[in-house]
Amino acid sequence: MIPFNKPYLTGKEAHYLYQAVYSGKISGNGLFTKKCQEFFESKYGFRKTLMTTSCTDALEMCALLLDIQAGDEVIMPSYTFVSTSNAFVLRGAKIVFADSYADNPNTDPNLIEQLITDKTKVIVVVHYAGVACDMDRIMELADKYGLFVVEDAAQAIDSYYKGKPLGGIGHLGAFSFHETKNIISGEGGLLVVNDERFVERAEIIWEKGTNRAAFFRGDVDKYGWVDMGSSFLPAETVSAFLYAQLENLEDIQRKRKKIWETYYTKLKYLEERGLVRLPKIPNYATNNGHVFYLVCNSLEQRSALIKYLRERNVYAVFHYLSLHLSEYYNEKHDGRSLPNCEYFADNLVRLPLFYELTDDDLEVTINTVSSFFG
Ligand SMILES: *Cc1c(COP(=O)(O)O)cnc(C)c1O
Repeated sequence: MIPFNKPYLTGKEAHYLYQAVYSGKISGNGLFTKKCQEFFESKYGFRKTLMTTSCTDALEMCALLLDIQAGDEVIMPSYTFVSTSNAFVLRGAKIVFADSYADNPNTDPNLIEQLITDKTKVIVVVHYAGVACDMDRIMELADKYGLFVVEDAAQAIDSYYKGKPLGGIGHLGAFSFHETKNIISGEGGLLVVNDERFVERAEIIWEKGTNRAAFFRGDVDKYGWVDMGSSFLPAETVSAFLYAQLENLEDIQRKRKKIWETYYTKLKYLEERGLVRLPKIPNYATNNGHVFYLVCNSLEQRSALIKYLRERNVYAVFHYLSLHLSEYYNEKHDGRSLPNCEYFADNLVRLPLFYELTDDDLEVTINTVSSFFG
């Protein structure tokens, strides 16, 4: 079976884990946590980063930092993972879902303005498949109405909008290092604080509502409970694992993008014949090789393709179900249909893409997709 994903080990993970374990400090905010944070801050110029136990946690920190209260409205795509909404639902927010573009799962900024009310507080963008949303348009809207912007950059490591690194454009950003992402630590995430106003409080919320981090830096002479917070910082072992991946980031990205390009080039003819659609990368965006997908013409065609591939040992998978139609949020949603989101939920299928996918397996996958379409 050619799997959909296989977590990649660069070779140094066990070495750094060993160092972390025998360093005598395995709880959080030690040497490897700092090394990872420094890496992100120096490579991407992020103002302040904090390692978290997941992207879900980083998003929950965003909701706390933005002081979301019951009844506040948060605009976000429906074509996303549940964590994007849960983070705000946990604080009592009302989720207002915005539709995708017709040719790209990202939120169409033209559809956002009409959803803004005097209760709107935040726009959350999701850079689906690591492809940037139109951030100039989103930031303009946020400025015009005094809103905050959170980037759910879970899939968007090392990807750019007009030369700016994703995760570094909104007021806050969140990355994931779950084993299905480009660089991994099993579970793990990163909060990015781009707005100076949130830097100090982010560290306090991260450390269970205490000023412990400032104390260990020697900035204050005792530490205590100064705000609300929770346990968001990961053990050193998580950051040690991630550090090995960061040292190989360029190699990982090069390989993933090469696989993506091969799929695109070899399957382009299917789009030209109107049989499927391929991903659209707008001029302002880069591709980080996170996901390669096809958009089928119907749910029936997609189900048949997935079945056909599985019978031939190729594991392809669909992606998000619309959150506005979910069992949990359906009743709370305002009833608007979101046709583009629903279209991607029904028709999008992802093909195997991981570092160790061999040329042979890539060719088998491409040939099997081709033979399905005849
Ligand atoms: C993977 C993912 C998440 C969740 O990341 P975790 O690190 O597993 O919490 C959130 N949002 C999006 C868009 C994702 O792809």
